[in-house]
Amino acid sequence: MSLAARLALVRTQIAEAALAVGRDPAEIRLVAVSKTFPVEDVRAALEAGCRDLGESRAQELVAKAEALADRDPVPRWVFIGPLQSNKARDVARYAHELQSLDRVELADALQRRLDAVDRTLDVLVQVNTSGEEAKSGVAPDEAVALARVVAAHDRLRVRGLMTIATLGGDEAETRRCFRALAETRERLRDAAIDGVDSAELSMGMSADFPLAIAEGATTVRIGTALFGRR
Ligand SMILES: *Cc1c(COP(=O)(O)O)cnc(C)c1O
Repeated sequence: MSLAARLALVRTQIAEAALAVGRDPAEIRLVAVSKTFPVEDVRAALEAGCRDLGESRAQELVAKAEALADRDPVPRWVFIGPLQSNKARDVARYAHELQSLDRVELADALQRRLDAVDRTLDVLVQVNTSGEEAKSGVAPDEAVALARVVAAHDRLRVRGLMTIATLGGDEAETRRCFRALAETRERLRDAAIDGVDSAELSMGMSADFPLAIAEGATTVRIGTALFGRR
C-alpha cells in the first residue's frame, strides 16, 4: 500500500471513530509521526496532504527541517519526544510545537532560545496518566501548576495537554489514561489561567487512536499506521 492509501485509510478510521460518538471529524488533527523515517517519506507525506509532522529527536528534526525548508507550504514540525534542556536550541529554531513540556527548567531553556531567534512555540504539557515510571510527563495533579508557570514565559503558548497511554494496556486501562487526561483538562479549564488555552487533548497513536477519539482527543499522533514499522 502506498503512503497516500494508508493515509486515506487512517483518515477514514478517524472519521468513523468521531462519527461513532457524534463528533465532527474535522475537529481532529492528525500529526504524522515521521520519526526514524527518511526525508523522502516525509516528502511523500507532505505531497499526500499531511502538514503536521511529529519528530522525537532534536538532531533528526534539524536535518529534516533543513532539507525541507523550501517546501511550500512549510511543514509544521511537532516535537513529541523527551527533550534535554541542552537541545532546546534546535527545537526553538525549527519546531512549531512541542508536546512534551514536562518541567520548568525546559520552559526556561526554550524561552531563552526562542528569544534569541525571535520565535514563539506552541506547547502542550505532557501528563503521565499511566503512572509508569519510565514515562515522562508530570503527574495529573501537577499539570495545572506547571501550566501556570509555563504561561509566564511569553515565547511559549500553552495549548493543552498530551499523554501516552500505558504500554500494552488493555482497552479499559487505555481508556482510563485518556479519561485521566480529559479530567486534567477540565481542571486546567477551571483554573482559567491568563494566556493558557486548554483546547488541545493530544492522545492516541496507531494502536489506540479510535479509543482516544471516543474519549475526546483533538489531536492523534500516528506513525506506524502511516509509515510502517520502525
Ligand atoms: C512514536 C510516537 C508516536 C507514534 O506511535 P505509533 O505507534 O507509531 O503510531 C506517538 N506519540 C509519541 C509521543 C511517540 O513517541
